[in-house]
Amino acid sequence: MDLNYTPEDVAFRKSVRAWLEQNLPRNPIRTLEERRVWHRRLYEGGYLGMGWPKAYGGGDARPMEQAIVADELARASAPAPTNGLGLGIVGPTIVVHGTDAQKTRYLRKILAAEELWCQLYSEPNAGSDLAALRTRAEDKGDHFIVNGQKTWTSAGSIADWGLLLARTDPAVAKHKGITCFLINMRQPGIEVRPLKQITGSSEFSEVFMTSARVEKTDQIGRLGEGWAIAQTTLGYERGGRALARITSYASQYGRLVEVARRLKRHGRPLIDDPVIRQKLGRIWAELEVERYGALRTLTLLERGEHPGAGGSLTKLSYSEFEKRFMEMAMEILGPYGQLTEGAPEELRLEIDTAVGEQGTWAYAFLWSRAGTIYAGSSEIQKNVIGERILGLPKETRADRVGGAR
Ligand SMILES: Cc1cc2nc3c(=O)[nH]c(=O)nc-3n(C[C@H](O)[C@H](O)[C@H](O)COP(=O)(O)OP(=O)(O)OC[C@H]3O[C@@H](n4cnc5c(N)ncnc54)[C@H](O)[C@@H]3O)c2cc1C
Repeated sequence: MDLNYTPEDVAFRKSVRAWLEQNLPRNPIRTLEERRVWHRRLYEGGYLGMGWPKAYGGGDARPMEQAIVADELARASAPAPTNGLGLGIVGPTIVVHGTDAQKTRYLRKILAAEELWCQLYSEPNAGSDLAALRTRAEDKGDHFIVNGQKTWTSAGSIADWGLLLARTDPAVAKHKGITCFLINMRQPGIEVRPLKQITGSSEFSEVFMTSARVEKTDQIGRLGEGWAIAQTTLGYERGGRALARITSYASQYGRLVEVARRLKRHGRPLIDDPVIRQKLGRIWAELEVERYGALRTLTLLERGEHPGAGGSLTKLSYSEFEKRFMEMAMEILGPYGQLTEGAPEELRLEIDTAVGEQGTWAYAFLWSRAGTIYAGSSEIQKNVIGERILGLPKETRADRVGGAR
């Protein structure tokens, strides 16, 4: 791992920082429309889809340049763009597996946030055991007709399009009969019902498909190839944005240290309490471990390699860390940690939620559970690490539910 930045990298970082000073929104973003405006400004600045091909609106940028931008955005506590699933999952999947016509039709509109996307994988009885999915897509000549139900669909309520996994052949082994499609969410056959979460917001939904239509031109890859395509998608979900996450944890950690300086218990600032200092020190040390883990992934990407099952190590590690970190934050904040409004300015944490609202420490704490579930739960990551990295024997039928993600 080479941890030194080249003079070009240093100059690039300087230019990103200068751009952010000029362009960062002055006021907190409160609505989806305001987030779209910020998204477009980022895109016009060249900071979205940086690794995508230039021919389709991307920047052909190196992984290191992408990491520097992610780093600077987090350092400046910049709001997130909208269309997270379009940028993080759908776009990269189309870049790798899509036809030229699909790339031309969809990629630019994802980058410009003209079309917002969701991911239609999980079903009520197919989460970890994703290959058990039952949504059917039937071939009708020039199109498919889709019937079934998806759930936990992030951004489903605002999405124009969805990346769908559906069963096209129920007669073959369950991993082999699945195909990947792009489905228009704005059609009569699609009903989206938002689900209320413990955080108070409704970032994900149930999606019901009743004779919904998918054009043949919107099939991704070959018939029955959906499982392999889903593995690419999950790879992006697990390993891809680790460094940006670590940097945003670091900025939240900085906020927490400030809070510990301001808050008093028994007449003394919390930061003077040796137990609190010890805990803050432990979190900082863990954060450094996470940072080096993310840099290791970056090194692989720079060399043109894919982290593969290593993405599971990164994902397991940072999502479990986030939980410990937020538990620590709650201990330090005491009752202030539970406030969803009315906290004094210096004790507030303004973070983005997926649907354009502003979050709080309470939101961040509750949300920290999610990372250990989405994109494959911690238990599933441990299975992947055990089997594919450590070479342990595979789960047997007796100790597993089915062909886990
Ligand atoms: C915030 C959030 C956003 C999400 N967004 C999306 C989205 O946009 N699109 C989408 O398609 N899905 C989404 N999901 C769904 C997510 O992928 C699933 O929740 C996840 O895969 C787990 O599936 P499940 O909820 O059905 O739990 P289950 O699979 O029923 O698992 C229940 C428990 O059993 C454990 N378990 C299951 N199988 C095994 C095994 N073989 N070995 C050991 N333990 C096992 C699990 O770890 C878990 O603790 C989202 C989830 C969350 C939390």
